[in-house]
Amino acid sequence: MTTPLIELRDICKAYGGFGTPRVDVLRGISVRIHPGEFVAIVGASGSGKSTLMNILGCLDRPTRGSYHFAGMDVAELGNDELAWLRREAFGFVFQGYHLIPSGSALENVEMPAIYAGIPAQERQVRAAALLDRLGLASRTANRPHQLSGGQQQRVSIARALMNGGHIILADEPTGALDSHSGKEVMALLDELASQGHVIILITHDRDVAARAHRVIEIRDGLMISDSADQRDGAARHPGLQADDLRQRLGQGAQLRGAWKGELVEALQAAWRIMWINRFRTALTLLGIVIGVASVVVMLAVGEGSKRQVMAQMAAFGSNILYLNGKPATLGEPAGTVTLDDVAAIGQLPQVKHVMPVIGEKLMVRQNNTSQMFYVGGNNTWFEDIFNWPVVEGSFFSQADEAGAAAVAVIGQKVRERMLGDHANPIGQYLLIGNVPFQVIGILAGKGASSGDQDSDGRIVVPYSAAAIRLFGHRDPDYITIAARDSAQVNGTEAAIDHLLRQRHQGRHDFELTNDAALIQAEARTQSSLSLMLGAIAAISLLVGGIGVMNIMLMTVRERTREIGIRMATGARQRDIMRQFLSEAVMLSMVGGLSGIVLALVVGAGLMLADIAVAFALPAMLGAFTCAVITGIVFGFMPARKAARLDPVKALTSE
Ligand code: ADP
Ligand code: MG
Repeated sequence: MTTPLIELRDICKAYGGFGTPRVDVLRGISVRIHPGEFVAIVGASGSGKSTLMNILGCLDRPTRGSYHFAGMDVAELGNDELAWLRREAFGFVFQGYHLIPSGSALENVEMPAIYAGIPAQERQVRAAALLDRLGLASRTANRPHQLSGGQQQRVSIARALMNGGHIILADEPTGALDSHSGKEVMALLDELASQGHVIILITHDRDVAARAHRVIEIRDGLMISDSADQRDGAARHPGLQADDLRQRLGQGAQLRGAWKGELVEALQAAWRIMWINRFRTALTLLGIVIGVASVVVMLAVGEGSKRQVMAQMAAFGSNILYLNGKPATLGEPAGTVTLDDVAAIGQLPQVKHVMPVIGEKLMVRQNNTSQMFYVGGNNTWFEDIFNWPVVEGSFFSQADEAGAAAVAVIGQKVRERMLGDHANPIGQYLLIGNVPFQVIGILAGKGASSGDQDSDGRIVVPYSAAAIRLFGHRDPDYITIAARDSAQVNGTEAAIDHLLRQRHQGRHDFELTNDAALIQAEARTQSSLSLMLGAIAAISLLVGGIGVMNIMLMTVRERTREIGIRMATGARQRDIMRQFLSEAVMLSMVGGLSGIVLALVVGAGLMLADIAVAFALPAMLGAFTCAVITGIVFGFMPARKAARLDPVKALTSE
C-alpha cells in the first residue's frame, strides 16, 4: 500500500466560543485519499463541506484531529511551507471563481507562478498555453467582468493548473453556472482526473457527483457514507506519489522565490489600482505633494539668496574691514585716523593689505561732456583688496604713488559715458576738478556680479595725487583693511581695535566695521525663516503620511478578498506585505515626484518675479527620499495588517 496523499484522522472544527455560542461544524472526519483519485464530497448546504475543503487545502486549521499530507503532519508545517503547499500542490476552484478583478485573464492565471518565482517570459507562455487549452485564447487580455461565468470558471481552473495543480480542490465549481457551461467544466475536470490529477469535488448535485469514482457523503459534520474507489489499482492513473511531493516540498519551501519578478508584479498591480482610483489617490497625496514642494522651493530660495550674498562677498571680498574716525564722546569733534595708523596696522600679522582712502564725488570733464563721478585716492593694493582687476591698460605703480602722478584708472561706466567715442581710451585725458589726469587703465565691470550698478562709476587715482592735487589734505577719510583670513575677520578686528586704542591714548575715537558681519546677520534671519518653513514642510509630510496610511487601510479593506485569493494561490505573508508596502512606496514616490514638479513650476514663477532661486539636486533627492520614507513608515501598519489576515476569513469577506 502506498502512502496516502491525504489522511485525515478525527478532524473536528468548531466556531464560536468566547461569548458567542459554540458551533461544531465538523465532528470527527476520518478519510484517506490516494494519488489518482477523483472524489466527490456531497451533502446538504450547511453540512460542513466548504469547511472541510478549507482544511484540506491548508487554508484553515482544524480545532482537533490530525491531518497528514504525503505522510507529513500539517500541524507541524510553518506558514511558508503551508504557502508552498497551496502554491505547488493544490489548485483551488471556487464557486464564485475568485478572480482578481483588476487583473486580466492572463495575469490571473500567472499569479501562482509569480509566487513560485518563475521568470516572466516562462510564466506568460505557460499561462497563455493553459488558456488556449481551455478555449480562452482570444480572451487573455479580458478582465473578469468582461468574461461570462463559464469563462471565468475556466480561467480559475487554468490558474489552479498553473503550478501543476496535482490536487484540484473544487468547491461547487458548477454551482453558479448554466447547465451548458457546467457540463464543460465537468468535462474538464474528468479530463484532468484521467491525466492523473487528484480531484476533490464538492457538490450538492448527485448527477455531478456521479462523475467521480468515489463519493463521500457528509451530514451535520459527520461522514455518513464513503463509496470508496471501486477500480483496482491498475485502472487508476498512478498520478504523483506522496514521496515525490514530500521531496519537492523539502526543496521548494527553502526556495526564496524571485523577489524581482514579484516586485515588478507588485508595482504593476499597484500602479493599476492607483490609476483606477486616481482621483481619490490624487487628493490623498496632496499632503506629500505640498510637503515635498515646499521643502524644495524653500531650499531653492534659501540657496538662491545665499548665492547672491556669496556673489557679493566674492565680488568685493569677505575679508574686508573699514576703519574711520568718530567722536569719542558725544559733541566732540571726530578723531582722525592718520597715515601713521595705516603703517602701524600694516604691521599686524593678521592684516594682509591696508589702504588709506580719500575720496569724493567730483565733476569730471572731457571735451563737451561733464558728469559727477566718485573719485577716490587709493594705493596699489586696490585690485587685490577688492578682487577687482584692470582689463585694459594697467593699474598705477608704486612710482606713480611716490611721485603723486596725475594718472587715473576708470570704471566701465566712466569709460562709456566720458570716453565712449574713443576707440582706445588709454592715454586720453580727463579733467577731474580742473586737474588733468591721464587715463592709464580700465577696471573690469563689477556691477553685474555685485548687483551694485554704481560701483562701475568710479575713478581711482594714486592716494598722494588725490591728497595733493584734488583734496588738499593728507589724512585719509577712512582706511580699508583686508584680513589675511576671511574666517578670522573678527579676530583681526579685535587686534586692530587693541592697536588703535594704544595709539590713540586709550580713546575710542574710531569705528571698525566689516561687510561679513552685515552679511552674516542677514544670513541668520534667513536661516530662522528657513527653519519655520522647514517645520511647515515637515507637518505637511506628516499629514501626507497619514494620508498614505489612510488610503492603504482603505485599500486593504476593499481588497481583503483579493488578499485571500493571493493567499489561496500560494502567496506567503511576506509576499502580501511586500505587495502592499510597494503600493505605499509607489504612492509616496508619485507624490514626491509631483511635489518636485510643482516646486519647479513655482520656482520658475519666482524667477519670473525676479527672486533668486537656485535648485539643488541634493535637496530634491532629500525631499524625495523623505517622501518615500514616509510611505514606508506609514504604509507598514496597513501592509502588516494585510499580511496577517486569515486566508479563509479574507476569502469569504465581502
Ligand atoms: P457547506 O459548504 O456544506 O454549505 P460550510 O462548511 O460553509 O457548509 O458551513 C458549515 C456550517 O458552519 C454552517 O452552518 C455555517 O453557518 C457554519 N460556519 C461556517 N463558517 C463559520 C464561521 N466563520 N463562524 C461561525 N460559523 C460558521
Ligand atoms: Mg459551501
